[in-house]
Amino acid sequence: MFLLFFGLCGKIRRMYVEVALPLYIFQTFLYLVPEEMSASVQVGCRCLVPFGKRSHVGYIVCVQEDVDPEIPLESIKELLAVIDEEPVIIPEILELTRWIADYYYAPWGEVIRSALPAGMNAAMEVTISVTEAGRTQLNSLDASRIERSSKWKALQQIASTKSLDLKVLEKNYTKARLVAITRELEKQGLIEVEQEIGQKVRTKKQLAVRLATNYTIEDFFKIDNEELTPTQKRVLDYLSISVKPPFLSELMDTLSVSISAIKSLEKKGLVEVFSQTMRRNPLAHIQQPMLIPDLILTDSQAQALEQIATAIFAEEYSTFLLHGVTGSGKTEIYLRAMKAALEIDKTALMLVPEIALTPMFSRRLCEHFGDSVAILHSSLSEGERLDEWQRIYRGEAKVVIGTRSAIFAPIRNLGLIVVDEEHETSYKQEEVPRYNGRDSAIMRALKAEAVVILGSATPSLETYHNAFLKKYTYISLPERVAKRPLAKVEIVDMREVFQRHGKMQLFADEVIEAIKDVQAKGEQAIVMLNRRGFSAFVLCRSCGQSIRCRDCAVTLTYHKEASRLICHYCNYQIGVPQACPNCKGLYIYYVGEGTEQLEMRVKEIFPESKVARLDRDTTRRKGSFEKIINEFADGVIDILIGTQMIAKGHDFPNVTLVGVISVDAGLSMPDFRAAERTFQLLTQVAGRAGRGTSPGRVLIQTYHPDHYSLVHARQQNYQAFYQQEINFRRSLYYPPFSVLVNIIIKHKDLSQAQALAGELARQLRNAAQDDRTIRILGPAAAPLSRLRAEHRLQILIKARARARAREILDLAMSSLNYNQQDMNAINVEVDPIDLM
Ligand code: ADP
Ligand code: ZN
Repeated sequence: MFLLFFGLCGKIRRMYVEVALPLYIFQTFLYLVPEEMSASVQVGCRCLVPFGKRSHVGYIVCVQEDVDPEIPLESIKELLAVIDEEPVIIPEILELTRWIADYYYAPWGEVIRSALPAGMNAAMEVTISVTEAGRTQLNSLDASRIERSSKWKALQQIASTKSLDLKVLEKNYTKARLVAITRELEKQGLIEVEQEIGQKVRTKKQLAVRLATNYTIEDFFKIDNEELTPTQKRVLDYLSISVKPPFLSELMDTLSVSISAIKSLEKKGLVEVFSQTMRRNPLAHIQQPMLIPDLILTDSQAQALEQIATAIFAEEYSTFLLHGVTGSGKTEIYLRAMKAALEIDKTALMLVPEIALTPMFSRRLCEHFGDSVAILHSSLSEGERLDEWQRIYRGEAKVVIGTRSAIFAPIRNLGLIVVDEEHETSYKQEEVPRYNGRDSAIMRALKAEAVVILGSATPSLETYHNAFLKKYTYISLPERVAKRPLAKVEIVDMREVFQRHGKMQLFADEVIEAIKDVQAKGEQAIVMLNRRGFSAFVLCRSCGQSIRCRDCAVTLTYHKEASRLICHYCNYQIGVPQACPNCKGLYIYYVGEGTEQLEMRVKEIFPESKVARLDRDTTRRKGSFEKIINEFADGVIDILIGTQMIAKGHDFPNVTLVGVISVDAGLSMPDFRAAERTFQLLTQVAGRAGRGTSPGRVLIQTYHPDHYSLVHARQQNYQAFYQQEINFRRSLYYPPFSVLVNIIIKHKDLSQAQALAGELARQLRNAAQDDRTIRILGPAAAPLSRLRAEHRLQILIKARARARAREILDLAMSSLNYNQQDMNAINVEVDPIDLM
């Protein structure tokens, strides 16, 4: 026993950390922990490590005492610093990021970086100063000696400033040399190096006022009241009833007192002015909670809630698909399910697809849960985001609502995750790491033994299929609240309208009549066209060419208000040309309509009505989206024109008509989800009509009235659509019958892209051999063959089993002889939402 004890003590125990770096590198790195840092290393802390020629912030993902004997110990570098005192990546999030990195083929460090609020990305600030010993040393050296040695030269430079930023020295030395020199100088005690982690965003402090701590309320009564002015007394009274010390500015505002009144109280020793952390509250602008009407749940709502609540109380993982038609009252179920989670001291997380929808949801959540709500989405300022993150981290927020990345909220003890409108494509992140927030939610819940609600009126095919396979529990709300009927959907065949007029029409007569009708009744209308701008594209009559983007393989869209032709992919713009840039011909004309033109035409036809437009162009300014929505809700606007932005989520009880100008462009997209997307969009927009007491009507203009997604959308029959669509997916071996991995090879140079894509495809086929469960398609030009000045080639892996697809990808990548540049050109997308 003793011997063993001694044996252990005698051996020097070395400690190592495994670090993930936020770089496009698919591996972690080992670092040796210097003796003095051994007490502060913890998994989940950020740290500073040497990497290549630079130092880098990384994340400690593992602490260990042994290393793989194959790794030469001398190759392991030392950790430079541990940044956090407490882990900022809680174990749950560490695990989730690891899963995401694995599943979506993304570097772990990149995933962790996107899991932390941007304001927390640390920047290192290093200051160096010369010690007394250093000065003595310098004085003993003569000038020529200093001149000959870079070490002494550096020391002299350091000495000539009081304390300096390492960056000044970086000009004269390579980073590696500099690190070596400063290390040596530091070791010899000639300089002192201080590293401070500068955080991009700090917590915000502001002056606040409280009663002096050594005074009790009783003391105030003893103070000779004559000495105080009425204003000063008011301040004291106010402070004595305040639950929390008010901020100075707030106090002055509320009581309309000047700073001098407070200063004089401070002088008398009655109050204290101190610095208090201030929360940048993203919900501050939201109006005061209105009174919540106590709704009585409908029978189907009550049944749904009971099933879900039972699962929450059981504290076990399960996923529910809440398939409820538009207006069936799903939100009420979410809210009560969250309450159920809170009742057993658990927390709840709710994901919503769009920032635009959060103000409304957040308001409803605040009504119910008050201050324990935190909100996370990308349009918050970095400061707000950091503050909200910290409130969650400290456990002050029990309910979190946010967009996709809120799945990384450091909320502990999760009982419930709600994913509203689970079919929405915005849950998929388009850049690295290309994860899907909905699927990550399920994984997070699985590990946390929490319950998931996936809510939608038009579930994605995969989700519905999973419910069909009983992986998810299916709950249906087939009817609207209060037995309100679903809107009646009619299809307007534009071929007939064409014949009637002998030329193309923007509006069918039926639609104009219908709008007139609702306007006469004092009701509101929505008109949707899923394309912004004035005209879809510009053609030259002489040469027949359309005007295209310089950098993308798409046509430019004419924006009349801005008087520009704009690329909707990269925002490249040119002024409106007088002549064709191609042949100099003077006969250019404009084809196809956008929302701008629609707005103009509606205003012409309905001069009496107040018309507004909601699309990306009219909502660029902060708050403009909410303003338009609020004005429409308040009835200030009679007719609202817009893109798919108006289709989602909103609840306008006075809207009884929805006109859809065209969905044909969406239907003809070269993508396997085109029909699904169209069906979803139509069902969603139809769901905006007739949510109040009067029934709704929907008119859809199309040149393809027989397309199955229109036929089923007309009947609002999800099951029928699903049956037909699932057969199509099965026959073409698309998800959910296969796993897709889409690889896009992007390069400015086409021949390089082709060479790389050709080689990757060859390696993939090599790896797949004659496995018949795998199909490798391509390389071929992607439907968007050029984007932002890069050529795009595509290789598609279709596999029966996910693990097998991954195995082949790994094999191919490892036999591919690539450099970092090639690596950046290869973009792997697992479970792509489209193949564009
Ligand atoms: P969904 O999200 O399913 O489209 P909502 O949750 O927006 O539907 O509900 C539609 C409308 O019905 C809302 O105005 C909501 O306040 C109301 N509502 C929900 N549940 C009830 C209920 N049990 N009784 C009365 N009104 C309800
Ligand atoms: Zn472009």
